[in-house]
Order: sequence, then structure tokens, then C-alpha cells
Amino acid sequence: MTAAIIDGRAVAERVREQVAGEVAQLVERTGRPPGLATILVGDDPASVVYVAMKRKACAEAGIADHHQHLPTDVSQADVAALIERRNADPEVSGILLQLPVPAGLNGQDLTGLIAPGKDVDGLTPISVGRLVRGTPGLRPCTPVGVIALLDAYDVPLEGAETVVVGRSDLVGKPVSLLLLARHATVTICHSRTRDLSAVCSRADVLVAAAGIPRLLGAEHVKPGAVVIDVGVNRAEQGLVGDVDFATVAERARLITPVPGGVGPMTIAMLLRNTLLAAGLQESAGAQSAA
Ligand code: NAD
Repeated sequence: MTAAIIDGRAVAERVREQVAGEVAQLVERTGRPPGLATILVGDDPASVVYVAMKRKACAEAGIADHHQHLPTDVSQADVAALIERRNADPEVSGILLQLPVPAGLNGQDLTGLIAPGKDVDGLTPISVGRLVRGTPGLRPCTPVGVIALLDAYDVPLEGAETVVVGRSDLVGKPVSLLLLARHATVTICHSRTRDLSAVCSRADVLVAAAGIPRLLGAEHVKPGAVVIDVGVNRAEQGLVGDVDFATVAERARLITPVPGGVGPMTIAMLLRNTLLAAGLQESAGAQSAA
């Protein structure tokens, strides 16, 4: 079997076009575009690139850009004060504090200050609680992008045997909870899992999010499985995933490439979350005016 390739760029492009259309409708209705406030502290080169990509994508979708770049030596109190101002600003629909923040700042505490309705990264304790409970809320971008890719390719999840490799707060845990919410049977593997290949090869849907280049090979994959590779690792030959693409593609039914799989979905879902947040604020405003 040679797997069909899941085209994350194409799916992300469709999401972005759809968001841009809905943004235009919102502007027509309310006279105000959704706004994303990105906060970048310091000059970490990867963070600088990520934030620039997010801002460009926002501009293309018609979302207003409220970026703030703070120096590395800014105090925790000053970043906190900026977040509070953004929380109160009606022009700001979503707030994104780019992580990691420089040593000396506590990124988790700062993230926790973001108002839940503006938490477009879905990482505050309240958003996490809503995800665990399965109540409405903003979900983390990469995990929700994984689900959107599976949906775009009509992969059945209800009752499916799914295995997630990785248990981080950013990817592994939320993607597992989202799969559970779709009635999949979910197994979470991590660095201390015994016999990874035995567990993974049970999966109808295998999600790799360990951050280890080519951790998963053909022996980890059931013939006909769907394989989603979240991993982005720098190797000599460029970016590689957590899955050994060449051998796994011979066994799987569907597979994401790296790059061009999950990566583009993350930004697309950030745009969608910003639009969702703007919608939440619009309906909250309508309720308080009623
Ligand atoms: P992390 O380092 O926080 O977590 C890695 C997880 O993998 C841990 O839970 C650990 O227990 C597990 N793990 C480590 N070694 C293992 C092993 N040998 N067997 C099984 N499990 C093992 O990483 P993260 O933030 O969750 O990111 C994971 C990967 O996804 C990274 O490559 C990261 O770059 C990538 N990522 C991509 C996107 C995207 O937009 N495409 C977004 C976020 C993260």
C-alpha cells in the first residue's frame, strides 16, 4: 500500500479563505474587524519568525493587527499590565503571548492572565478546563488543526482506535481530549511507554507529537492506518517529522508530510479562533445591550 498524502497546505488555505469571508461579513455587520494582539518578548529568532507569519496571515484574512514587541528585560509586571490592557480593549478579540518568554519571566503565569474569551491559543487554565469538560471554549490551535485535517479527509473517529505519542500540554494532551470528544478510543504514549511499537501498531489513527526525528517507523504502523505527524525537527536535510515518512507511507492509508501537513493548519486555526473570539464578544455585547 502506498499512502495518499494529506495536503495540509490546501486544507489550511480553504480554512483561511472561509475565515476571510466570515471576517468580511462581520465587518459589514458590526463595522469593526476582529483584532489579534500578538505579544512578543525579546528576540528569539524562531519566535520572531512565528509571530511575523501569524501577523501576515491575520492581515491577509482582514483581521486587525495589534502587535506589541517588548524588550527582553521587561518586567513580569509590565507584561501583565499590557495583557490586562488588551483584555479590556474592545478592539482586541484575541490575545497571543508568544512562548517561550525569556528567562526571568513566567510564561505560564502570564498566559493565565489572558481573558478566557480572548484566549486564542487555548492555553489558559479556564480554556483547558473547558476542553476537559467538553464545554464550549477556544481550543489550542495545533490540536484543533489535527482534527480539522482528519475531518477534511473524512477519517472516521467514533469508536476508532487512536494512539497519540506525546503528552505535552501544547499538543499531546489536548489532541487526546479532542479525539475523546469525538468518541475515539484514545491511548496516550510518552517517554516511559513500554513497547511503543506494540501500542502504536493497534492504531487506526496514529498522531505523532514527540519531537524526535523519525521516532516512528513502519513497525509502529498498522497497515491501512491514518498517520498524522505533528513533529517538526531540524535535521541535516531540512525539516523532518517524528515519522519516517518513506517507510511509513508504504504501509499507511493516509499520511501527513513534514512540512506541508499539520504546520499550515496551526496558523489557519489561529485565524479561526480569533474570528470565534470576535463572535463571542459580539454576542456578549448584544446580551449586555439587551
Ligand atoms: P514536548 O517536548 O513538550 O513533548 C514531547 C512529548 O513526547 C512528551 O510528552 C514526551 O513524553 C514524549 N516523548 C518523548 N520521547 C518519547 C519517546 N521516545 N517515546 C514516546 N514519547 C516520547 O513537545 P511538544 O511541544 O508537544 O511538540 C512535539 C512536536 O510537535 C515537536 O516536534 C514540535 O516542534 C512539534 N510542534 C509542531 C507544531 C506545528 O504547528 N506543526 C506545533 C507545536 C509543536
